[in-house]
Amino acid sequence: MEECELCGRGTEIVHVIDIEGAEMRVCASCANGKRLLYKEDKRAAHKSSVDLQVKSQRVEKGDMFELVPDYGTVIHNARERLKIPIKVLAEMINEKEHFLARVESQKTVPPDALVGKLERALNVKLRESG
Ligand SMILES: [Zn+2]
Repeated sequence: MEECELCGRGTEIVHVIDIEGAEMRVCASCANGKRLLYKEDKRAAHKSSVDLQVKSQRVEKGDMFELVPDYGTVIHNARERLKIPIKVLAEMINEKEHFLARVESQKTVPPDALVGKLERALNVKLRESG
């Protein structure tokens, strides 16, 4: 929030105008009809700091990664490609066979740790980057 140099009202978007060679920082209504040099959006700066806060909270929680929408198919296709039966895969990564079957049919969302193990065992990516 910044005060308009003409009317003194607070404004979120500062309009920098040219009045006979002098720069004035004014509100939208005072800038109306004047020669506008550029605008400064005070909200944009504020907003991005809020976004950053939200992002760092997400990272701390550690459970906000996005699984690819067809993770079951990705796991299934990788198993087919490597010719690994689900029972063998379960033994490889020390998980229950029926649990893996549920994950593969997307009835169960795999926990973070299992996603990591599956990715390493099958050499696939189950998480969206970013
Ligand atoms: Zn004004």
